Order: sequence, then C-alpha cells, then structure tokens
Amino acid sequence: MLTAGIDVGSVATKAVLVNRAQLFHLERPTGWSPRQAGRDTYTELLRLAGADSRNVSRVVVTGYGRVALDFADRSVTEITCHARGARYLCPGVGLVLDIGGQDSKVIRIDSGGRVLDFVMNDKCAAGTGRFLTVLAAALGLDVSELGDLGREVKPAVINSMCTVFAESEVVGLLAEDVPKERIVRGIHDSIARRMAGMAGRLSRGLDAGALVVFTGGVARNAGVREALEARLGLPVVVPRLCQYAGALGAALLAAEDSRAD
Ligand code: ADP
Repeated sequence: MLTAGIDVGSVATKAVLVNRAQLFHLERPTGWSPRQAGRDTYTELLRLAGADSRNVSRVVVTGYGRVALDFADRSVTEITCHARGARYLCPGVGLVLDIGGQDSKVIRIDSGGRVLDFVMNDKCAAGTGRFLTVLAAALGLDVSELGDLGREVKPAVINSMCTVFAESEVVGLLAEDVPKERIVRGIHDSIARRMAGMAGRLSRGLDAGALVVFTGGVARNAGVREALEARLGLPVVVPRLCQYAGALGAALLAAEDSRAD
C-alpha cells in the first residue's frame, strides 16, 4: 500500500506517494484555487505512479491551503511536516531553514527528531520567495536565473528588508549602472541576513555535527545557500528534494497513521 502527502503551498503544490520501496513526487503551480491544485496534483501523481486512490491507505495534507482538501484523512501543521521530511532527507539535521513562496521558518530539532522550537515569518514578504520574485522582475530576470549570478562579485548594499523599499533600491542601483551581478549578490545577502536574524538563538548551542538543512523552493537557489553559510558561519546542506520536505513529511506521517491502525 502507498501513503500520500500533499503540501498546498502559496506558490506551488507538492504531492508525494511513498511505500517501503518507492517514492513518487510531483510539483504544480497552486494558481488561484488551492482545492483544485491539491486535487489535480494528487490525481496526476497517482497516474504517473500507475496507481489509483484505492492503492492509498492514508492521505495527510499540509501547507497554507490544507483546509481546502476535504478528501484527506488528516491535516498536519507545516512545522511538524517540514521537520519530519527534512529528517528523512538529511538524518543528522539539527536546524531546518525553510524558505517558501510567502513564508520562512527556522526549526530546531533534537537528535531524536523532535521539534524543540521554531520561528516563523508569514506576515511579511521580506525573507521569502516573494522577495526574490519581485526583485528578480525588477532586474528583468526569472527567479530561477538568480542562483548562478553574482557568486564571485562584491555584493551591492541593499539596506531595506522591506520588499517594496528594496525594489526601489534595486531600481536606483540599476540607474547608477551598478552591475546586475552585484545587485543579485546583494539581494541574496539581504535574504540571508533576515534568515540569520530569525535563526538567532535557535542556531546557538547546536549539537556538534548537527546539520543545518535548507529546504523550500528557494533552496534551489545556490546563491542564497552560499549567502546563508556566510551569515551563519556554518555549512548549509541542500537535499535533492528540498522543495518536497513538507509533502514528504506528510506522506511519512500518513504511513505512521496507517501502521498504527
Ligand atoms: P510554497 O510552499 O509557499 O508554495 P515553495 O517552497 O514551493 O513555496 O517555494 C516557492 C518559491 O521558490 C518561489 O516563490 C520562488 O521564489 C522559489 N523558486 C522556485 N523555483 C525556483 C528555482 N528554480 N530557483 C530558485 N528559486 C526558485
């Protein structure tokens, strides 16, 4: 039997199917309807896995749009799911840094996988994927192009953490002919500064050897990872399925529910 996890995010809906031997995953834009995105992503993933809903014993949902999915067996908070998924992807994790489309979170985990503490920012676009998307657009770039730019240059200074003011600063820097690469590096440093501020007390006193793991869609940006390493003074690991941590955690919790029956 399979179990399913669906993470209905503000930007992307991620679905994962697992059993003892296999893991299937799919990501789709959430668009305007979390309910439709959740259903469609799940249905399409079942098709890709050559399965149907009768082969799935439990479905757990998470993410900001989780309340919209009425076919799920259980809904679980993002903190619990992300922690569970990150631990599966990187077993030695002690600190999770997750940057999604409209929120960012830092989660401290003990060696047994329990959540000890967390900090979440879901009130302001600063330090989230939205910040990068808006500033990439001001530079005439797609967010996926930012990661490879500006890794070897001196960062331009971007003082404001507020997305609206930072966008004005970027426009001003372009008018002064500051190279795009330096502006991109400045943007990455700005998001890392904000995350390092959130990580603050949670990153202190980590067990020796505990990994700092970076998840969420923004973890695909290598420039942000490097900026985080510089700000935290710690190595930061990005797992291959970084954007699936929440959905994967949900699917693993669904498997535990199934075994408990
Ligand atoms: P949510 O769960 O809130 O929908 P995700 O964790 O899926 O968010 O992350 C979405 C964000 O990831 C986007 O806002 C964008 O900034 C970023 N992103 C998506 N694809 C890429 C990419 N290829 N390179 C860098 N960043 C990306």
